[in-house]
Amino acid sequence: MTNRVRPRIGILGAGQLALMLAEASKVLDVDVICAGQPGDCAEQVATVVAVDLDDAAAVAAFAADVDLVTIESENIHADVLQGLNLYPNARAVGIAQDRLLEKRFFHECGIGTAPFAPVDSLEDLTRAMEITGLPAILKTRRMGYDGKGQVRLRSPEDAAGAWAEVGEVPCILEGMVNFEAEVSLIAVRGRSGQVVFYPLIENHHREGILRTSIAPFVHEELQRQAESYLKVVLERLEYVGVLAVEFFVVDGTLLANEMAPRVHNSGHWTIEGSATSQFENHLRAIAGMELGDTTSRPTVMLNCIGSMPSESETAKFPELSRHDYGKQARPGRKVGHLTFPASERAAIAEWQQRLQG
Ligand code: AMP
Repeated sequence: MTNRVRPRIGILGAGQLALMLAEASKVLDVDVICAGQPGDCAEQVATVVAVDLDDAAAVAAFAADVDLVTIESENIHADVLQGLNLYPNARAVGIAQDRLLEKRFFHECGIGTAPFAPVDSLEDLTRAMEITGLPAILKTRRMGYDGKGQVRLRSPEDAAGAWAEVGEVPCILEGMVNFEAEVSLIAVRGRSGQVVFYPLIENHHREGILRTSIAPFVHEELQRQAESYLKVVLERLEYVGVLAVEFFVVDGTLLANEMAPRVHNSGHWTIEGSATSQFENHLRAIAGMELGDTTSRPTVMLNCIGSMPSESETAKFPELSRHDYGKQARPGRKVGHLTFPASERAAIAEWQQRLQG
């Protein structure tokens, strides 16, 4: 006799991505438990166990109490992830958390990138500028997100200052590309190898932080190209779960910028805009379930950076869906997002203005 077991899924991290995964879990036959710190925002909807995510023994103890583990951030030390029943697997996370490995991996998959070169010293940086040309961006190989760990170089004289500013840690130098648009593709691969895609998303950043995502970015040829790229990445990594790849559109083709081995900010609109959200589909994938329908309608998401607009203000716009992560206001911090049907142009324009203030 086979007893159907309700899988217990452990999430390493308890921030807003864990919060939205936990919310999505309510419609599925799974239980979610998060590893984080007291007061982390996922606590509003899920059990959060206090775990130091830098402590391999503590993470292993947390993992021993669940059936499988997933992540909400790729910035977890690879040593901590070894030996866990982890989806996506540790190799995929290890590549995604290191910009040099990631760029080399894209090339192995036949996917173009901006010109780049590794930088481990000031001398390397001088040589790297000849490979990439200027202007260029010096990016730390690890722990960079939302524009952190990045310094722009406009002339050779900027090298010493930039090297000091990144803290003289292993980096890559990347040539700046003159992109027509920034887009991302979110894919999901199940344990059986089933793959589904969402439509391409157009993303707008300011100060290195995502501000607006517009779905879909309608371009049949680029959708086809992006899907064929992600298929290769997913297969080579034997990937299970949601994978997001960010691209620059340059001269009508795609250059990969980076990948996120997790649910992604540019996919938050799928909660209202798709038959199955990225959060539900990630849980379905890692729990070994069939993936849900990704049929989507045109939708726009605006990030709330620094502080959250009041409920009384957003309530005046019934077409808007308000997501407050319950985080403390702080400059540059993602504290929530607003989602609109794309047809609500006036409301979107008004809120874009307000959120820039
Ligand atoms: P990243 O953390 O690599 O996603 O970079 C943050 C943002 O900086 C990107 O979304 C782009 O807007 C910009 N950026 C990063 N790398 C480049 C590049 N090589 N050329 C032009 N813009 C870039």
